[in-house]
Amino acid sequence: MVQFKILISGALAVPLALTSVAYGATPAKNLFGAKRDGAKMTPAVYGSYAKGCVAGAEKLADNGPNWQAMRLSRNRHWAHPELISLVEQLSVDGKKVGWNGLLVGDLTQPRGGPMTSGHASHQAGLDADVWLTPMPNRRLSNKERENISATSMLASRNGKLTNQKLDKKRFTSAHAGIIRTAARYRNVERIFVHPTIKQELCRQNPDRPAWLKKVRAQFGHHYHFHIRIGCPAGSTGCKPQRRVPSMGCDKATMDYWFKVAYGPRRKPKPGVKPKPRKPKRQITLAQLPRQCRAVLAAPGTAGTPAVAAGAVAYQQPTGRIATPSFRAIEGVAQ
Ligand SMILES: [Zn+2]
Repeated sequence: MVQFKILISGALAVPLALTSVAYGATPAKNLFGAKRDGAKMTPAVYGSYAKGCVAGAEKLADNGPNWQAMRLSRNRHWAHPELISLVEQLSVDGKKVGWNGLLVGDLTQPRGGPMTSGHASHQAGLDADVWLTPMPNRRLSNKERENISATSMLASRNGKLTNQKLDKKRFTSAHAGIIRTAARYRNVERIFVHPTIKQELCRQNPDRPAWLKKVRAQFGHHYHFHIRIGCPAGSTGCKPQRRVPSMGCDKATMDYWFKVAYGPRRKPKPGVKPKPRKPKRQITLAQLPRQCRAVLAAPGTAGTPAVAAGAVAYQQPTGRIATPSFRAIEGVAQ
């Protein structure tokens, strides 16, 4: 680029450079949010869960033998093929633990990237939200998929959901089973659930099995749980997250959640104005890995499947991820 500028006339170089800067400064969510189909490229992840994109993403079929995709108008059921296979397999394995089928929430936009609304993560094609409501025994209409709500697992107090207590009538052994099944897949690195769900799973599993460590307490996540897989083998541009630090069932962790994070709100002192909230960061294209420009520019994958032929055979990936290289305790979970 530098050499190119020297060779051409200054008059031409300036507008080119300006155009490039303007494009790079555009909020990336506008560019990625406008894409309707995946990039026709070899599947690969670039960047991280909360600052990245995905090439060669596949779309989860709207209907499978044991799943139905929700909120179809959002067009967020795209992901790296490894995650698509995993969701399909989970729908099959879930049956074995009494889970009737998956209602699948957001995965990723067709080419990943920051989303036009909602999540901070879900950018790299490696995150999937699954409702904590089992699939009904009938096919939902598109309208129902837009409008029906998931059921919260939290207990209510005075008609309001409380972050302190799980509703154990709603959180059944099948709920525990579907989370355990997902957490046991080797390439799943984290499952995000509400702290009350983590607390209950800790209580149910005093032997502290390895899968339980992957289940991480997070804000929200009482209507759905969030599955996150590691960097796929061969995706050398994918930034892994830090390893899970501890089992997370200890008293200090639970005290943090129930006494601090979800503890009683401190009242502001009289006369002191509460600090205004910081505006949400806007990720620009220039802040994403440079390969994300090629992902945006690539031709699209027209002709995505409308109905799956059946859940495909799922193979555990053989590769292993590189050493974590960036600082993040739990990563961005929303
Ligand atoms: Zn999520």
